[in-house]
Parts: sequence; C-alpha cells; structure tokens
Amino acid sequence: MSDPDTPAKSHGRLSISASAKPRDLMEEPRLVKGAFVAKVITLFPDAFPGTLGLSLTGKALDLGVWRLDPIDLRGFGEGKHRNVDDTPAGGGAGMVLRADVVDAAFRHARVGTPPDRARWPVVYLSPRGAPFTQATARRFAAAEGITLLCGRFEGVDQRVLDHHQVEEVSLGDFVLTGGEIAAQAILDATVRLLPGVIGNAASLDEESHSHGLLEHPHYTRPQMWEGQEIPAVLQSGNHAEIAKWRRAQAEALTQERRPDLWARRPGTKPGTKDV
Ligand code: SAH
Repeated sequence: MSDPDTPAKSHGRLSISASAKPRDLMEEPRLVKGAFVAKVITLFPDAFPGTLGLSLTGKALDLGVWRLDPIDLRGFGEGKHRNVDDTPAGGGAGMVLRADVVDAAFRHARVGTPPDRARWPVVYLSPRGAPFTQATARRFAAAEGITLLCGRFEGVDQRVLDHHQVEEVSLGDFVLTGGEIAAQAILDATVRLLPGVIGNAASLDEESHSHGLLEHPHYTRPQMWEGQEIPAVLQSGNHAEIAKWRRAQAEALTQERRPDLWARRPGTKPGTKDV
C-alpha cells in the first residue's frame, strides 16, 4: 500500500512499503543505472507484477533492467473510507474517479520524473484512447519511464486528464472492467523492447508488426506429425530460399488476414511507416 505521506520505495521487483518484512528491506537492491521505470496508479496494486513477473519480463525485473512502482490510488482517497469515486455530474449509471484524488496520485507519481512527455509519457488506459500499436511500444521503450493510470468504474473526471496532459491509449475496441490488464499488456510489449530483455535481438526484428507484416508460420520437431511434414524448404538448409519462402508466407498471411495492414505497409503510402 502506498501512502501519500510515506512514499513506497521500490527495489527491483519488490515494491517495499512500511509493512515489508525487515528481511526484505535488508536485501540489496539490484538496479541497473538508467533502468526504465513504470509507475502504475491503480486501485489494485496486488494485480502487479502479475504476468509481468514471469519469464523474460520477470527476469528483467529481477535483474533491475526495469522497475515497477505500483501506486495505490486508495491511499489518496477522501476521509475515513478513503473514497476515490463519486456519482457522475449530470446523472447516469456508475461512478467516476474523482479529479482531486487522481490529481494527488499524479502529483505523487511525478516526483523525480522529467516534465517532458516525450521523455516520460503519462498515460490513461482508456477505450477512447489512440489504439496501442508496435510503434507506440517503441516510443514508450525509448522513454526513461512511464506513468500509467488504470481506470475503474465509468472512468476518470476529465479535468484531471486535461490538467496533467494525459495521453489516452486503448488496448483495442472493446471494454474491460479496469485498466490493469491493459497496463500489463502495454508494459509487456514495451519492456520486451528494452535492450537486454530479449536475448536474441534478431527475433525482435523479424516478428509480426516490425515491418508492417504479420510473421511467417513456425515449425519444430517432430518432423512428421499427424501425417503433416514440415515444409521441405525449411529442411533444405538453403538460407536464401528459406528467407524467400518466409517472406512470401508473411505477405500472403498479411493480405489474407489483415488487408488494412497490407494496404498501409511500409513503402506503399508515404507517412504511414510506423505500423
Ligand atoms: N465508460 C468507459 C469505460 C470504462 S471501463 C467508456 O465507455 O469509455 C473501466 C476502465 O477500464 C477504464 O477507465 C479504463 O481504464 C479501462 N479500460 C476499459 N477498456 C479499455 C481498453 N479497451 N483499453 C484500455 N483500457 C480500458
């Protein structure tokens, strides 16, 4: 639990608060200098790191390549019950996160961060936002860190979003109950682009969306499975032919499944090369 008066300190993957065990506090923080920092304002800090604590993103968190600071919005709530929401002005269903409460969380989060939004994006996960793409992930990964606000209920008072120059980003054209899953998806896509997170950097270059195409299909052992053999060209050892085949497969898949991506792939229309 974060508290506005006693900010939580984070050491690697552990967000340490006053309630942490002394043994944890004595552990040496393993932080890489210039590590990417993700501050996540949420009513559910226990949802983090979630899947980000697993596999490559989890290992990178352990190694201090990036740091995660969940900030508990409840800690900034009003009164004895730490209320964070209220009924929508003008009427209607549901509740809205209060401007003053979210403002206090943003002010807490911005301590030690540069005001330049290019160096440190401040993002509200929202179905109204600009669709998140690989280009957005690249932009976020090039920053020093990011602050993410996870909404709940009907959303957030508009005034606090305007006041803090918050960028709205959407995971897609559907509605989640909260921003936490969206925040984890966005952080996963961003963190895996940080130097050293993925061992083989070449795999980043070949995968879906890196050149505006979907990726070619993959095969591995056994060579024959359920009467289906691995395509002969992949077993030929001819790397030029393999590259040609993969390219053709990627193009065919993209045309068939994503005509929208195919129409604006790099080189087709100037100014749309960031897919
Ligand atoms: N009333 C809002 C939806 C609220 S959903 C609307 O119609 O726009 C509750 C919270 O879930 C939002 O505040 C947001 O943080 C999160 N959320 C829902 N869908 C999302 C999406 N597609 N992408 C990112 N965040 C989303």
